[in-house]
Amino acid sequence: MTKTLQRPLAALLSIGDELVLGEKLDTNSKWLADRLGTLGLLVTEHRTVPDNLEKIANSIVQLAGMAGVVIVGGGLGPTADDLTRQGLARALVLTTGEPQPLVEDADAVRAIRARFERAGRTMPETNLVQALRPANALSLPNPHGTAPGMLARVDVAGRLRLIACLPGPPREMRPMFEDAIEPAIRSLPGVARSELRVVQVFGLGESELASRIADLMHRENNPAVGTTASSGMVTCRVRVEPTLPVRGPYDATEPTQAVEEALASIGRVAKGYVASRENTTLAATLLDEAVAAGLTIATAESCTGGLVGQLLTAEPGSSRAYAGGWVTYSNAMKERELGVPNADLEAHGAVSSEVARAMAVGAADRAGADVALSITGIAGPDGGTSEKPVGTVWIGCVKKGQPPVARCFRFGGDRAAVRLWSANTALFIGLQAIRGQSGVPLLWERP
Ligand code: AMP
Ligand code: MG
Repeated sequence: MTKTLQRPLAALLSIGDELVLGEKLDTNSKWLADRLGTLGLLVTEHRTVPDNLEKIANSIVQLAGMAGVVIVGGGLGPTADDLTRQGLARALVLTTGEPQPLVEDADAVRAIRARFERAGRTMPETNLVQALRPANALSLPNPHGTAPGMLARVDVAGRLRLIACLPGPPREMRPMFEDAIEPAIRSLPGVARSELRVVQVFGLGESELASRIADLMHRENNPAVGTTASSGMVTCRVRVEPTLPVRGPYDATEPTQAVEEALASIGRVAKGYVASRENTTLAATLLDEAVAAGLTIATAESCTGGLVGQLLTAEPGSSRAYAGGWVTYSNAMKERELGVPNADLEAHGAVSSEVARAMAVGAADRAGADVALSITGIAGPDGGTSEKPVGTVWIGCVKKGQPPVARCFRFGGDRAAVRLWSANTALFIGLQAIRGQSGVPLLWERP
């Protein structure tokens, strides 16, 4: 009998009034769900409850009835509203029918005391409640804070359940998950470590791309391909379970070879649109390839107000390739700072092919850069005309020794969307220039 691709299930429970009330964003669940998926688990539910003992206990019971791994986050502090310890104890009583007194964990007491001593402070007695754990749970050391975690293994209707309680602060939660929970999950029966590879595709519609690789995208495939789209980029994720047999339209019988086949197929159908074969940003890819080619980049931005420069300089080491740029919003600034001819502004308007090209040429010359990118457009909500509606953006590019080019785009969405998509498109056009690719038409391009 062949093993099936049925993955063990996991569920997440976040605890805290501040999360339920919207005062704080639950970033832990996003991080945990991603990690659990990589470990080969299928996350089927995220739940968030306030600091309420009954809700915590009942949620743990319900989630453990459904998923083999339940990760609970928050509520481990020393104050009266931190109720996860009691919540876990009550959930264990409800699931096992056995009494679960809270006991003081001797190691946890020592660790908490030592932490205060190292900081030269006397420990408030209230902190001792953090050393409590249900009698049948393990206490997990927390090298980054005072709250120890807890791990319980329980039998629910003949099936093993792993219930872990982790501290709320991300910088305490993440290392504890990696040190204590990951190994426990790996040792569970049926957990195969899945591996993820990606191909980032820019400027091709997600549904168009998906239709071209439909046979790779069946959920039962191994490897299986999925797509996610964000601001012009479609990320194709190729996930493989290396210990399970290959399934799907592959020639290879080895899962790792089938992954290469899947990556090659995506590369073929998305020829000219591939931004990267790593999970990274467009700006990082552009900078890396510019450095590799020994080229420098300058920018001249109007409607994006420096967003391209911001995206580039957000990357560490950007100075290796980014020379700098201009934000020229008014016509006068475009003329004075970049040498855009007044005649072009008068005859064609600031949002035009001529002005986009002149901005790029001016930026390249004045920065002494090898490649320059320019953006001029109408981000809205006002300023559109029937000829140049909101979302019309010209992106210019010049590469040393070549004539400047400008391409027209029509982006949808609000002002923020038009600006972000414009910036991303400019970065991708820069990438095409550095690679020496003739620009394939992008989804939002106007002929
Ligand atoms: P607690 O363990 O509930 O006392 O939480 C300690 C800190 O971690 C508080 O600042 C919480 O807002 C924060 N925190 C708790 N849960 C999460 C979460 N799911 N995502 C991000 N921060 C959290
Ligand atoms: Mg809390």
